[in-house]
Amino acid sequence: MNIGAHVRGGGKLVPSLEAGVEIGATSIQIFTQSPRMWKPSQYAPEVLAAFREAQATHPTITDTFCHATYLINLASGDAELYEKSVQALTHNLSVARGMGSSGLVLHVGSHKGAGFDEVVRQIADAFERAFDDADPAPEGVVDCPILIENAAGAGGTVGRSLEEIGLMIDACNGDDRLGLCIDTQHLWASGFDYSTVAGTERLIKAIDKNVGMSRLRCFHLNDSKIELGGNRDRHANIGEGTIGVKGLAPLVGHPKIRNIPLLLEVPGSGEGPRAEDVVAARKVVMAGIKLYDGAKKSTLAKKAVPKKAATKKAAPKKAAPTKKTAAVKKVVMKKTKK
Ligand SMILES: [Zn+2]
Ligand SMILES: [Zn+2]
Repeated sequence: MNIGAHVRGGGKLVPSLEAGVEIGATSIQIFTQSPRMWKPSQYAPEVLAAFREAQATHPTITDTFCHATYLINLASGDAELYEKSVQALTHNLSVARGMGSSGLVLHVGSHKGAGFDEVVRQIADAFERAFDDADPAPEGVVDCPILIENAAGAGGTVGRSLEEIGLMIDACNGDDRLGLCIDTQHLWASGFDYSTVAGTERLIKAIDKNVGMSRLRCFHLNDSKIELGGNRDRHANIGEGTIGVKGLAPLVGHPKIRNIPLLLEVPGSGEGPRAEDVVAARKVVMAGIKLYDGAKKSTLAKKAVPKKAATKKAAPKKAAPTKKTAAVKKVVMKKTKK
């Protein structure tokens, strides 16, 4: 299990690792620049190198994800806004690559009613330009994919379904630098009910069919202030929303999901994820694992596991994803669709 959290570094990179350690997270997500301003944060190569070194000396944090600025709209019909968006995405990708990030999470934007088919080509062009024009990853550093985040489905938001995300990847000829981040709140709001074992199996099938499970690099783990299908983006603390512990457990405990970084973007008490939110997330994953693996594995954390129970069904416990496994995954990240 790998419970991460969106943290604030106060505009600095290295302190964001400390912020993650402080709340007991094992992955972090940060904004590469102020999320609601166009002005890019400039980082000298030494600053990026210092972050990569700091990542190595904070071994409890296995992965750092970056989140692109919210202003980006690759589906915009306004030429100037589109151009600004491509520039911002390119800059965000340069920073993420320089940091050695495991993924740059992106909200693609909104076509504002023009329709998905009208904008899919310009979105693909934007991805290709960003991949070409961003500063390359430093030597020896694994390249950073762009992770398309699913949308809650408000207005003309793009990425409201796995089908749409699959079509964007298709439009880039299955470029293996494109991946997926699933936000549990957005998915719920977009009307996908994964809150049972059967629902989660249906989700995994849909991911495999449209995108490929190997592209799924992280989750945003959030409960929802909005009901199923409510189409609005409103995160709640784990266990305090309409999905609840019972609805999240089948998803996060699934054997194909439980070791993928689960990044909290919950409000906490207003300042973002706290240590207690990380603990709450761990409990949900444990409850989910129990659903699949039965009671004998339920005691796997904290409390001493009775010997015979522990050896009874020794399901291989996968190691948390590391930079190295990310590198290996990158190589095998081929389009598995169809
Ligand atoms: Zn997001
Ligand atoms: Zn999110």
